[in-house]
Amino acid sequence: MTPRVIDHKGGVWSIAVPIPDNPLGHTLVHLLETDRGPVLVDTGWDDPDSWDTLTAGVTACGFALADIHGVLITHHHPDHHGLSAKVRGTSGAWVAMHAADSAVVRRTREARPGQWLDYLLAKLTAAGAPDDHLAPLREARAAGRGRRLPGRRAALPDRAIAPGELLDLPGRRLRAIWTPGHTPGHVCLHLEEEHPARTPGSGRLFSGDHLLPGITPHIGLYEDPDDTTPTDPLGDYLDSLERIARLAPAEVLPAHQYAFTDADTRAEQLIAHHEERLSDLRALLREPRTPWQLATAMQWNRPWDQIPYASRNIAVSEAEAHLRRLVKLGHAELLPGNAPQRYQAV
Ligand SMILES: [Zn+2]
Ligand SMILES: [Zn+2]
Repeated sequence: MTPRVIDHKGGVWSIAVPIPDNPLGHTLVHLLETDRGPVLVDTGWDDPDSWDTLTAGVTACGFALADIHGVLITHHHPDHHGLSAKVRGTSGAWVAMHAADSAVVRRTREARPGQWLDYLLAKLTAAGAPDDHLAPLREARAAGRGRRLPGRRAALPDRAIAPGELLDLPGRRLRAIWTPGHTPGHVCLHLEEEHPARTPGSGRLFSGDHLLPGITPHIGLYEDPDDTTPTDPLGDYLDSLERIARLAPAEVLPAHQYAFTDADTRAEQLIAHHEERLSDLRALLREPRTPWQLATAMQWNRPWDQIPYASRNIAVSEAEAHLRRLVKLGHAELLPGNAPQRYQAV
């Protein structure tokens, strides 16, 4: 198999590592040459084909996987962090991640069987999900089937990526930009070096899933079964987008799809998309609705009855993230009584 590798010049390559059975298709793993050896930004999904592609890709860039010096992870999702343990095992590389996402990795590894299903059942019940949606989850729980989470075997990082930090990469200037929203510890990595084609702007940005050219990343709740502190991931995301727009990178190297140049335009589009959603939701909340009812009434990329089961859970999470934002802005409130939760515009 010939790996799809792009030489972005100036010691930066991308390797398209396949994600099995996923409409996203690939994770773009980036390789950054340093004076201490190649460093990877993300690693790809933990699957034999993906591993073979990554190995062949590193070779096509002119290096060997055994020489990888370090691994920088934009966020904990399995299409980014899945192969980190294998890369570390083969090369002895360190693995670095923001502490908030390392905490998710640790929690997922240590979760007792069934904990996630219990959390999901309680959450969806409170959100007003109907019995026919809850039944399969109850059956799975009763049968002792803890959903096999891909994160169970994920690598615990060796290093923390601190916000604003200039990373210790000999010969390179790479700065960590904390961009919470898609996950609590998502980071973008800003290569503060002149663009190799002298494209105007401030260096290049490895944007992970934060800024993608044609996809709106999922913004849900941070979903921590052990922590009931109300967070505001959508508010975090919108702030993070503004931060990236202000950086004005000459080129964005995202973890999916393709590289692109107009970061601020893309950030503005995403901000406008969410503002539109927020105002649509506010209109829907003129009458009291549960998060489930809101999710079924929201605009998705297809009608609700065609949305697959697991995606409906993600949709409810997305509706809840928008609700949190409206509540925080004082545009909606949780009505008294909590079985199930009902919200109304104020
Ligand atoms: Zn992601
Ligand atoms: Zn991703």
